[in-house]
Amino acid sequence: MEVRIWDISLAITDKHEEMELVKTLDIKMYKDLDFGGFIVIDGKSYRLCMYDNKKDILAVEPVKLNEEAEEIEYNSEFECPYCGSVNDDAWELDDEGETYCGSCGSELEYERVVTIEYNIKPKKCAPITRV
Ligand SMILES: [Zn+2]
Repeated sequence: MEVRIWDISLAITDKHEEMELVKTLDIKMYKDLDFGGFIVIDGKSYRLCMYDNKKDILAVEPVKLNEEAEEIEYNSEFECPYCGSVNDDAWELDDEGETYCGSCGSELEYERVVTIEYNIKPKKCAPITRV
C-alpha cells in the first residue's frame, strides 16, 4: 500500500498516484488496518482521508495527534481534543450529548455552553442638577 498526502485537486481528477508519497507500507487495508482514525508513520501522525481500492493508495492528512487529550472548556469553536479539527456544523448538534469527530472519527462528549451578552445604546440621560 502506498500512503500519500491527500490533495483534493488530484482526488477530483482521480490522480491519487500523483499525490506526494509518504511511504510504501507492507500492510493490507481492511486486514491490518481499518478505515478511520490515525496512522503513525516514522513518528509522524496522519488522519486517514481516503482509500483507493484499485490503486491501493491510502490518502492521509498530517495531523497533530493528541492521544492523551484533555477536556477543552469554554472554547468558542467545537474543536476535537484528539486531532484539533474544528466542526463548523456543531450548531446543528443538540445542546449536549455524544458525537464523532468528522475528521478523525474519535468519540466525543460535549455540552453547549450559552453565554449571554448585552448591547446597550444610550437613549436619554436622566436629569442632571448642577449646583
Ligand atoms: Zn478529531
